[in-house]
Amino acid sequence: MPDTLPDRRARLLGPNMPTFYRDPLHIIRGQGVWLWDAEGRKYLDCYNNVPHVGHCHPHVVDAIARQAATLNTHTRYLHEGILDYAERLTGLFADGLDTVVMACTGSEANDIALRMGQAMTTKTGIVATDNTYHGNTALVSQLSAKKPPIGGYAPNIRRVPAPDSLRPLGGTKDGQAQVFADHVTRAIAELEAEGFGFASLILCPFFANEGFPDLPPGFLDPTVKAVRAAGGIVIADEVQPGFGRLGSHMWGHQKIGIEPDVITLGKPMANGHPVAAVVARTEITAAFREAFGYFNTFGGNPVSCAAAMAVLDVLDDEALVANAKAVGAYALDRLRALDHPGIKEVRGSGLFFGVEFADDDLAPMTEFTSNVVEAMKARGILLNRLGRHYNCLKIRPPMPFSMENADLLLDTLAEVLAEMPA
Ligand code: PMP
Repeated sequence: MPDTLPDRRARLLGPNMPTFYRDPLHIIRGQGVWLWDAEGRKYLDCYNNVPHVGHCHPHVVDAIARQAATLNTHTRYLHEGILDYAERLTGLFADGLDTVVMACTGSEANDIALRMGQAMTTKTGIVATDNTYHGNTALVSQLSAKKPPIGGYAPNIRRVPAPDSLRPLGGTKDGQAQVFADHVTRAIAELEAEGFGFASLILCPFFANEGFPDLPPGFLDPTVKAVRAAGGIVIADEVQPGFGRLGSHMWGHQKIGIEPDVITLGKPMANGHPVAAVVARTEITAAFREAFGYFNTFGGNPVSCAAAMAVLDVLDDEALVANAKAVGAYALDRLRALDHPGIKEVRGSGLFFGVEFADDDLAPMTEFTSNVVEAMKARGILLNRLGRHYNCLKIRPPMPFSMENADLLLDTLAEVLAEMPA
């Protein structure tokens, strides 16, 4: 008997390699918002943000193929590709955010950003939320909520309570912004008192991994003020909300209304080709390069830049940010119209939205949410869940997601919920 695929994975890749779903999917083809498994079954992809402009978009495929057939080297030779891309990318940010460091993963980008904070301030203290994920390098994994590091969290890291819209910090939605800022201020004071000093606050401006709480514009104003008063830098991790996903703006930090010093980008940047970047003010990039002499073998290579450039082309040509806004608003309206006692909050922005399931005492309905995800998969709709208790549906499809796709998603969710009393 030949090995099953799961057995082969365990044998060759080691045990505990995560998969989605109780019965893992074997996906062999993708196109636009659709995926197909090995049995030919078709799924509506409501989850994957990496194929930002749609699975296997022909313009991106062509750009990769043409550049791969011409040249692929590294940034120690001169090449226009990275410069043309950097020029176009920085044109999408506020004045002053003028320089780019290219990398291959969001983890690397955040690692660079944190080291920029150190280089700029000559301090080492980092503040992040207590329910986040910014990546998997030795430094960045110190910020991860899921698995505490061996030996415990490093003493120069402070994790402050993440904001929440169902159970706001301090008990009220109105007071939450100041309570969050007060936690950050206290963390900074501790880092200073313990001799590390304060370098950076890093956060996702949409708090995506925290469960994307519903927060008003201006929510982070008191926090940013506290960081600036302490001489630290603000790092916005745009790996999830960036490139127009939120519909209303190109970047999550624009939506919440802050001006970060450093911005990190990844996942959707090149539609699945491994490309990431850090955008920062010139003096920050200069301090970083001076302190660390950074070189990344694959970062910014001609093929990566061609892929990333092609994504920006498609975003423009197909008006995908406007599409995210219109379809996201429609989907949110339809979600709000669902009638189920477990639905305690419907929230999101653009093509990143979901539902939080809790009982009448606001206890998280974690198992129920998992069952909803499985039932949707059984009906050919792929989505997932997140949040501190994994009781929020996470719906984050490729950007060409249409009104018709939203109807299929919402009709199916209504059917599933009708069969699943709370
Ligand atoms: N930042 C955020 C907010 C993320 O969600 C992730 C990945 N889920 C990362 C960084 C890390 O990106 P990568 O897996 O490309 O290293």
